Amino acid sequence: MPRFRQTAEILKLMSNKEAIRNVGIIAHIDHGKTTMTDSLLVEAGLLSPQVAGSARVLDYLEEEQRRGITIKTANISLVHEMDGRPYLINLVDTPGHVDFTGKVTRALRAIDGAVVVVDAVEEVMAQTETVTRQALEERVKPVLFINKLDRLIREMKLTPAEIQSKLARIIADFNNLIENYAESEFRKKWKVDPAEENVVFGSALHRWGFTLKTANEKGIKFGDREIMEVYGRDERRTLSRLIPLHTAILDMTAKNLPSPIESQKYRVPKIWKGDVNSEIGQAMLHCDDEGPTVMCITMAQTVPGTGLVATGRLFSGSIQKGDQVYVVEADREYHVQQVSMYMGAFREAVNSVSAGNIAALSDLGLARAGFTLVDYKHKEVMVSFERVKYVAEPVMTITVEPKKPSNLPKVIEAMNRLSIEDPNLITTIDEETGQYLISGIGELHLEIAMNFLRQYVGDVELTASSPIAAYRETVSKQGRTVMAKSPNKANEFWVEVEPSKGKFLKLMEKNRLSERTMEEKIADLQWEELGSIWAVDKNENVLVDLTEDSQYLQDAKSSIITGFHWACKTGALCEEPLREAKVKLIKTQLDPNPELREPAQITRAVSRAILGSFLTAKPILLEPIYKIDVSVQAHWFGTCTSIISRRRGKILSTLQKGFLTTITGYIPVAETFGLSAEMRSATSGYAFWQLAFDHWNKIPEKLASEVIKKLRERRGLPEEIPTPQMFVDKA
Ligand code: GDP
Repeated sequence: MPRFRQTAEILKLMSNKEAIRNVGIIAHIDHGKTTMTDSLLVEAGLLSPQVAGSARVLDYLEEEQRRGITIKTANISLVHEMDGRPYLINLVDTPGHVDFTGKVTRALRAIDGAVVVVDAVEEVMAQTETVTRQALEERVKPVLFINKLDRLIREMKLTPAEIQSKLARIIADFNNLIENYAESEFRKKWKVDPAEENVVFGSALHRWGFTLKTANEKGIKFGDREIMEVYGRDERRTLSRLIPLHTAILDMTAKNLPSPIESQKYRVPKIWKGDVNSEIGQAMLHCDDEGPTVMCITMAQTVPGTGLVATGRLFSGSIQKGDQVYVVEADREYHVQQVSMYMGAFREAVNSVSAGNIAALSDLGLARAGFTLVDYKHKEVMVSFERVKYVAEPVMTITVEPKKPSNLPKVIEAMNRLSIEDPNLITTIDEETGQYLISGIGELHLEIAMNFLRQYVGDVELTASSPIAAYRETVSKQGRTVMAKSPNKANEFWVEVEPSKGKFLKLMEKNRLSERTMEEKIADLQWEELGSIWAVDKNENVLVDLTEDSQYLQDAKSSIITGFHWACKTGALCEEPLREAKVKLIKTQLDPNPELREPAQITRAVSRAILGSFLTAKPILLEPIYKIDVSVQAHWFGTCTSIISRRRGKILSTLQKGFLTTITGYIPVAETFGLSAEMRSATSGYAFWQLAFDHWNKIPEKLASEVIKKLRERRGLPEEIPTPQMFVDKA
C-alpha cells in the first residue's frame, strides 16, 4: 500500500535503482486520468476519500481546479509494496488537454513508462494516439488502463459478450498504435496482452480495477456477470475493497514498467546527442550515482519568494544544496540553493537526490524546460539533450494593454514570467506600436494565459483583444536580384529571394541536428548550389551566401545575419513573419573604412534588400490549419460535417466505432472562433472534438486581400502594400 510522508523511506529507496519507477499517466481528455490519479493519492494518504474527484491534488492551480483540466505538470513520489518488496513510484503528472501538448512532451522526458488511460465507452481517440505516439518517440514504454467499465454495465447495459468484444477492440487498436509508432526493437516487446498483466480493466470513479491474473485469483469473472450483479445490488464498495484500483495500477507499474537502470540503457542514446562512450555517456547509460551530475530540466516555474524552481530528471550523479552547476543552453552557472522532491502540491526539502530520480532545484534564474544541467566541473565537455519535438505551434494571437500606461513595466514582467513557465506561449512587445502580443496554441490556451497574466499583475487593469489567427508570408516564385544601399550609401548588398520549400529542416531532421547544433553545423553544410548556409530560423527561412571574393565579408557576416532575421520577423505584406523563404546573398560591396560599416548600416540595408526581392517573388499569405477530430453519435454526423464545411473546412475521413462516429478533417484556425458554441448547440452538447495545429496553407485569393487589409489596419500601416522600389535602390 502506498504511504505518504515517509520521507526517510523514500530517501532510502532512492538509491535502490531497481526499485524506482518514473511513470506518467497519459490520456485523451476526459478519459479519467485525474480521477485515476486521485485514487492513487487517496491510498497514499494525500487526499481524503471524501474530496477525491472534486479537489484534485495534482491540479493544484486554482485555474486548473476551476476548469477541471490539468495544465501544469506536478510530480509526486510514493512507496508501493508488492510481493514484500517496496517500490518508489515517482508519478509525473502530464497535462490532459491537447492545447498543452508541448508540456506533455517535456514531461515525457522525465519518465520511463506511461499508463495510458482509455475510456471503454469512447475507446481509442485522437489524443490517445498523439500521446502514445509521443511516448514511443521518447522510448517511454506504455501500458494500458481501460477505464469506465461501470458505464458499459450501467449505462450501455452491454452483455458480457459485447463487453468482451469492445475490450478486445480497444486492446487491438492500442497495439496497432504500438505497431505503427514504436521503433522496430520495441514493436513486439511492448505490445500489451492481458495475460501478461499489462492491461488493467476497471472504474476509476468507483476505484476498482483488475488484471486478468487478479481476476482469476479472486474468482471474478466478467462473463459470469459477477461484476454486473454487484452493480445490480449497488455494492460497488465491495469491489473497491476486493479489487482496489491502486493495487492493480501500481502492481502493473512495478511489474511491467522499467527501472531507470534498465531504461537509461536504451533511452539515453535516443534523447541525448553526446558520445555514449564518453565518461558522461557511460555514467548516464548506467544511471551511476558516482558519475557527473546530469539533469534534464522538464519544468521551470517562478515561485514568489523562492525564485526560479527547475524540476527535472537526474540521469547521472547526485545533487545537493550548495553544488555548483552549469545550465548548458543558458550558458550560466549557479549554486543550488535548495534541493527538494515533490509531494503533490508541495515540495519537501531533502539533503540530496540521486540518479534516476526527479528533483526540484532553486534558484536557477535562466533555466528553462528542455535545458540541460551539468556538474560545473564538466561544463566544457557536456553535450545537451535532444530538443523535445513540439507538435504544437502558436497560431492564435491576442493583444494586451494595461488601462494605465504607467503600469507597462508590471505587464512586461508578468509577460516574461508567462513565457518562462510556458514555452508554448510567445510573448512579443512591439515597441513601435506599444502593442503587447501573446500567441498561443488555441483559444483555451490563450484564455488560461490571460487569467495567469491577470493573477500576476495583481490590481493592474488589463484589456485584451479577442484572438485572431497568426499568419505567415511567403513567396511563390523566384524573385528578382535587387540591391539596397546602407543609409550612409557606403555599402551595397545584392540579394535574391525564392521559395525554400522547407528542404533544410528535412535535412536537419535526417541528420538529427537540434536547433543549437544546427547553428554550429550550419557553416559546414553545403546547399545544392554550393553556397554556404549562414542562418536558418524556425519558420524554415534560410540565408545562403553565394558571394565570390567579397572583401570584408567576414567582418560584416553577423550583421548580415541579423538583417536577415529582422526581415524574416516582419514581412512586407502585413508585417507577419516570413516562412519558407530562401534568401541568397549574391554580391556585396563593403566600404574599406570600418566606421562606415557599422552593424546598424548593414542590418538596415540587408533587411531592405530582402523585403524588396521578396515583393518581386509573388508573395502570398499563409494561414494556419487545424486538424479537427469530432466524436459524436451517428445521428449528429451530418450536422457536424456541415458545420465544418461551412467554415471552409474539409472532411478527410469518417469512422464508425460502435454507436459513435469519428470525423477527421481540416479547418482554418481563423474559422474556429465561436465553433464551440455552434457545435454544442447544434448537437445538444453531445459532440466532443479536438483541434490541433496541422499545417500552413495558402489563403484563398479572394480572401487574401481582405485579410491583408485588416492586418495592416490593426498595425497602423498605410492601406497600400509597398512596392519593391520603396525598399531597394536598384531592381
Ligand atoms: P481527465 O480529463 O482524463 O483527467 O478526466 P477526469 O478524471 O477529469 O474524468 C472526466 C470525467 O469522467 C469526470 O466527470 C469523471 O467523474 C468521469 N469519470 C472518470 N472515471 C470514471 C469511471 O470510471 N466511470 C465513470 N462513470 N465516470 C468516470
